[in-house]
Amino acid sequence: MAANCSTGSATEPPGLETQWREIDNLNQQQLRAGDSWYLLDKRWFDQWKEYVHTGDQNSSSYPGKIDNTELFEDLDSYHLKERLSENEDFILVPSEAWHKLLSWYDLMDDQPPLERKVVDLPSTVKVEVYPVEIYLCLSSNLESTVTARFSRADKIHAIHQKIRQHFNVSETAESRLWMRSTDTSSERLRNLNMTVLDACLISGMTVIMEIRNADGTWPTSRPQIMRNTADEDSYRGPPGVCGLTNLGNTCFMNSALQCLSNTPPLTEYFLMNLYLEELNFTNPLGMKGEIAEAYADVIKQMWSGRHYSVVPRVFKTKVGHFASQFLGYQQHDSQELLSFLLDGLHEDLNRVKKKEYIELKDADGRPDQEVAEEAWRNHLRRNDSVIVDTFHGLFKSTLVCPECNKVSVTFDPFCYLSVPLPVSKERVMEVFYVSLDPMAKPTQYRLIVPKAGRVIDLCTALSQATDVPPSQMAVADVFNHRFYRIYQVDESLSCILDRDDIFVYQLNSGCMDQTDEEVILAVYMRERSHYRDYGSGSNSYSTSLFGHPLLMSVPRTQCTREDLYQLLLKRLARYVRPLDPSEEVEEEEDEDEELYKAQTNGVSDDEGDEDSEEAGPSKKEEETQQSNQADGQNNGPLEASPSSEREERAEEGESSSEPDRGSSTEEGQSACGSTDTNSQDATDGDQSAGAEPSGKEEEDDDEEEEEEEEDGEEAATCAQANKRVPGRRHYTERRKKALFTIQAVNSNGTTERGMAEAGGSFSFSSQPYIAIDWDPDMKKKYYNENEAEKYIKHQSMDVPHQQTTVQLQECIELFTTVETLEEENPWYCPTCKRHQLATKKLDLWSLPEVLIIHLKRFSYTKYSREKLDTIVEFPLRDLDFSGFLLKKTTNSTEPPSRYDLIAVSNHYGGLRDGHYTSYAQNKDNGQWYYFDDSKVTYAREEQIVTSAAYLLFYQRQDKIRQPTVPPPVPSSTQPENHITSQTHDGVDGASSCVSMETD
Ligand SMILES: [Zn+2]
Repeated sequence: MAANCSTGSATEPPGLETQWREIDNLNQQQLRAGDSWYLLDKRWFDQWKEYVHTGDQNSSSYPGKIDNTELFEDLDSYHLKERLSENEDFILVPSEAWHKLLSWYDLMDDQPPLERKVVDLPSTVKVEVYPVEIYLCLSSNLESTVTARFSRADKIHAIHQKIRQHFNVSETAESRLWMRSTDTSSERLRNLNMTVLDACLISGMTVIMEIRNADGTWPTSRPQIMRNTADEDSYRGPPGVCGLTNLGNTCFMNSALQCLSNTPPLTEYFLMNLYLEELNFTNPLGMKGEIAEAYADVIKQMWSGRHYSVVPRVFKTKVGHFASQFLGYQQHDSQELLSFLLDGLHEDLNRVKKKEYIELKDADGRPDQEVAEEAWRNHLRRNDSVIVDTFHGLFKSTLVCPECNKVSVTFDPFCYLSVPLPVSKERVMEVFYVSLDPMAKPTQYRLIVPKAGRVIDLCTALSQATDVPPSQMAVADVFNHRFYRIYQVDESLSCILDRDDIFVYQLNSGCMDQTDEEVILAVYMRERSHYRDYGSGSNSYSTSLFGHPLLMSVPRTQCTREDLYQLLLKRLARYVRPLDPSEEVEEEEDEDEELYKAQTNGVSDDEGDEDSEEAGPSKKEEETQQSNQADGQNNGPLEASPSSEREERAEEGESSSEPDRGSSTEEGQSACGSTDTNSQDATDGDQSAGAEPSGKEEEDDDEEEEEEEEDGEEAATCAQANKRVPGRRHYTERRKKALFTIQAVNSNGTTERGMAEAGGSFSFSSQPYIAIDWDPDMKKKYYNENEAEKYIKHQSMDVPHQQTTVQLQECIELFTTVETLEEENPWYCPTCKRHQLATKKLDLWSLPEVLIIHLKRFSYTKYSREKLDTIVEFPLRDLDFSGFLLKKTTNSTEPPSRYDLIAVSNHYGGLRDGHYTSYAQNKDNGQWYYFDDSKVTYAREEQIVTSAAYLLFYQRQDKIRQPTVPPPVPSSTQPENHITSQTHDGVDGASSCVSMETD
């Protein structure tokens, strides 16, 4: 049926009816994408229709040659007129019909056939009558453009080829395309496999080709900073020997980048532009190729040999957009970044465009080899990229249920090995020991204690050094002149951080428990300020803590002010000079005492205040207070004090109506001195040394938030106590002058708690705290600050701190040791149908070409966080894994399992702060370099193994290529072998890497 002639002169046409039937049949054809259809002038076609329908070969309606003249703008360019419409101006006929008509009637001279392609557009297939007309040019010369037509179904690749051909751009030059619709904005055409339609290219737009500079940068995004810098332009260093500018806490990123940059297979993949073909623009798990492109830009610049240092700003921004945790300028973990980056690069370069769902199968007793091969095949079905080729290995994971002994075997891919470091079971602690001997200075000891031990273990260790039984020790954390914490003997040592100041106090008898006979008293030193704090409305003095606090056991019978005063004088004898007998004058009531009286009256934030204006509380008032108290117990946060304290207050108030009386009696009696006193006694009781009504709301800058509530309670207690303090007492008695006064305080050393005035003795419930308050003048005269601060170093402090050393192989063995899963991370046993703390064993099955080993120096457990500074001795050459591999080499074609070191990421510093650098071997010249942000220096092999090593990069020996250029000769004229200059960017500096939170 096909026309026997497709072009050229007309052949003898068949009968008119046959003509009509053939053409009409062909015109019923469906549109198929890629087919050619032809435009035919509607008037000529109508004429032809009329002619064939007359049935008369000689009819006057003979149409003559096919004539599309009316469809053309002019007969010079033969451009199609704009806005022609189908079935009005023209009709479309399929290729076969066109050629039949052509053979029967011929085409008007010189007219080109109007062939158009059928394109598959979203939701419709149509003949593309008007193709897209685009201007093409190079970024280097925007004036010189060429016009080209493309179908909407054409790939961007076709445009790319057209520009290359037209402008003679070499095939090896790396280029990228931009499309521009207006004069101001351009947009990248990143995916060359996209169609013109999908890229939204329309007629009239310009496509610009940009060609990468020799220094790895792009003409349109060349960092401003590098322009016009003569040495940057002329610098020709060894490729890859290039620093990375610190953008502010980005040393973690620079360190990881240097290690990757010096991983030969990955860098060559980018330098050879292989990545361009594999950019995955559709992977929802990736960044549409942007991470890979940004990484390529950094690598191209670093390996151009034209830069001392590269500014990875765009790369950092892209990374931050992908993983927001890297957005800011906090310090991060280089391992965390590396892990993210390998993943991001992998997904951006994943050759698998559509990931299928694959159900993982358990081994179910099948041989390892079979299960491993299946797992690897499945992995490759979803993950196939240069990252998988280079870094992915396979390990076997065996879980055993402790209850039903169900064994579950799976093989899982990994892209780095996180190996644990052997954790020392012991810990070195430094403490200050304060002996009972008042004249002995505190002594600093270095003790070895079990890491998982308790406070009693610390006491025991100290006991061996001091010969004082552990039962006579009290351990406390001292911070800002106060006890941050007083420990119980059974508390875990993990509560104590290395930086804490730990004091151990010798007690004269018994143990830490408060007994009937002894009370452990916490003693703070405070200094009064010279001014009165009128602002608070309480007329009190403000005080500030100073010196070292003290823990001492005091017989309950000696809890009177006078006894305590004498005890403290003895205990502080080393640095507190007693009053000269001549100075111990008896004095009349002085101005101070006037003040304190006023102060007592001024306790005003309590509504029952008027009561205390009386010369002393009457029985009735006491009852009122008592009932206030009872009311208060049921409402108001201020009254939410521990029941023991309330009971005690009831005790002090001598109210027999308190329902808890029975249970409180015991405690009340044990609280020294409180049972044999009452408010009545207080009214006319002696004023002992230092017995002064307490002030309220003393200032303290260091007050801690968590204590605020407690302060509230204390304030309430204080108010209660003050109400019981008789107002307007007259200090007619004579009294001795004291060095200092004693106040009951809370654990913060701030607000006084209530105290029984009667007999000047204290009553305590739980841990009692008192403060020794000094008048500034008295302190200056009698308190020897210099002596108070003195301490001795015990010889144990001279023993140097031993750094532990382990072999890398030991860490890998630890990785493969059987462990029991932790409570937080159980395993769901399919047989028992519930979570079990299974045993887990990992084994290495197959290793990648480049093996990354992550030394887990940061140890985070429920109880502690620490950085291990263990030295891990790792070999630079011939690290043999054959002993660790479960898969036994069966034939000689298997790759060997010997590895050589190629790069190391280092972390210096502790948990909270630190600096990252790296060592790496240049693939071209075999020389080791030390990369510290923008600085690069030569490194010797013996410098590489340190306690800072954090990530190790090993390459399998069969993949290692010999250096292609001789190693450089370090010039003696360069100080410290300094290779590259400081960056020209201002924000550089290791100095910016201080005190960042790693969490
Ligand atoms: Zn089970």
